[in-house]
Amino acid sequence: MGKVTGFKEYGRELPPKRAPQERINDYKEFTGCFTEDKLNHQAARCMNCGIPFCHSGCPLGNVIPEFNDAVYKENWEEAYSILTSTNNFPEFTGRICPAPCEAACVLGINKPPVTIEEIEKHIIEIAFSKGLVNAKAPLIRSGKTVAVIGSGPAGLAAAAQLNKAGHLVTVFERDDKPGGLLRFGIPDFKLEKWVIERRVTLMEEEGIQFKCNTEVGKDIHADEILRNFDAVVLAGGSTIPRNLPAPGRELKGVYFAMEFLKQQNKRVSNIEFKEEPIWATDKDVIVIGGGDTGSDCVGTSNRHGAKSVTQFELMPKPPASRTESMPWPTYPMLLKTSTSHEEGCERNWGINTKEFLGDAEGNLRALKVVDVEWETDVFGRPVKFKEVEGSERELPAQLVLLAMGFVHPQREGLLEQLGTEFDARGNVKAAEGAYQTNVHKVFAAGDMRRGQSLVVWAISEGREAARRVDQFLNGSTALESKDAES
Ligand code: FAD
Repeated sequence: MGKVTGFKEYGRELPPKRAPQERINDYKEFTGCFTEDKLNHQAARCMNCGIPFCHSGCPLGNVIPEFNDAVYKENWEEAYSILTSTNNFPEFTGRICPAPCEAACVLGINKPPVTIEEIEKHIIEIAFSKGLVNAKAPLIRSGKTVAVIGSGPAGLAAAAQLNKAGHLVTVFERDDKPGGLLRFGIPDFKLEKWVIERRVTLMEEEGIQFKCNTEVGKDIHADEILRNFDAVVLAGGSTIPRNLPAPGRELKGVYFAMEFLKQQNKRVSNIEFKEEPIWATDKDVIVIGGGDTGSDCVGTSNRHGAKSVTQFELMPKPPASRTESMPWPTYPMLLKTSTSHEEGCERNWGINTKEFLGDAEGNLRALKVVDVEWETDVFGRPVKFKEVEGSERELPAQLVLLAMGFVHPQREGLLEQLGTEFDARGNVKAAEGAYQTNVHKVFAAGDMRRGQSLVVWAISEGREAARRVDQFLNGSTALESKDAES
């Protein structure tokens, strides 16, 4: 532990951000860097407590007090080595993770937690700037081949680990470029795409092959993949969005969030698309859904120059801070207002959409909505809602973006051809810890297996699934696991 009294001397600080009114004029990231002093002080706040709950709060099992200590001592090689022993892509999680580790930080019991996510980003960026991050191709090849289907964070992590174990890995991706939702879901203002390019280039130098514009199940039959590879990792994500089948859903102006976000990500990267362009410019925009996807729609609509941006959430407003009914460790998502909300957005909680209303040309003009009241169970959790009498009203809207989550992976094509079983929620069935599907030599990881989740979980699943594949191919594995005993 670097500085015993650090947590008493220094308060939590975050790096400076560009002002909302300035940053909505472009799509670039807007969070700056710490000065050397500030970074040192923030790392010194880590108490290295006896039981570091941050380890288990992090789905990757990041060894947080140890890397904080190395940062405090400015030992960048050590910090980088500790961080990357559990996380292949800290440059992604350091930018966009909701940081469940911070919610579990013991300092958070009575003070703001350590700024773990930002420290992580600084370690990896400093490591890149000091030339510490280099391609490391395996010294010995196993002669075994693995197909990874899908190049989101789960597929990338599985590919990196399996390549490290010496197998020849080919990643198939149906989109124009690798990255999955990192590339085509999450906007550049949260994660600029050169960050993905930089990593993919390293992975290629390490010997991983990427085959983009190739949908397995359409461009290549799944049987061909089974014939040509010794093992397969399914990492195709959870891509079917939840719909809102209210009257008027077919009106022009009602879209799924990903239709809108994917176009904008392609525009920023100068990638052509054939779909009709969706613009929020000068429109009253209503985003239905209060999660990450919804707030990315808010930030993008503001950058388009929307007339107004409103976000609806069916659920009641969560507590703004820790309360008696929600003691430490806190669930991070409840407390977080995204940076997009700082840029201008009205947020309405406990509101339900009853109808999309159109004009004579079939264009959306308004939403019919109603307030709802929630009944709670003995733990205070909302379980059932009823409409508030007399609260029904019309709200003007020329663009509605449905951001209500994803229900399961796409079944047609790949999964039907393979004959994979599904769990009760409709995701690919493969027990956590084993990652093996019902199909011989086929494994699954990430949102395709666990349902829509987080980047940090996708990386964690990709890593753990890679261990199981390596064991399957070799009989044993030397790849690291977050669970020491497994
Ligand atoms: P994905 O990232 O979905 O990647 C799957 C890939 O597989 C895709 O590229 C797809 O094209 C490809 N594919 C599918 N089928 C085939 C096939 N048959 N052949 C070839 N390729 C195929 N999480 C966070 O932690 N922080 C955030 O800020 C955050 N923001 C988000 C914002 C949005 C708009 C969305 C939608 C999600 C967000 N998430 C966020 C969630 C996070 O992005 C996902 O949990 C994560 O990307 C899942 O990773 P994955 O690798 O399992 O799947």
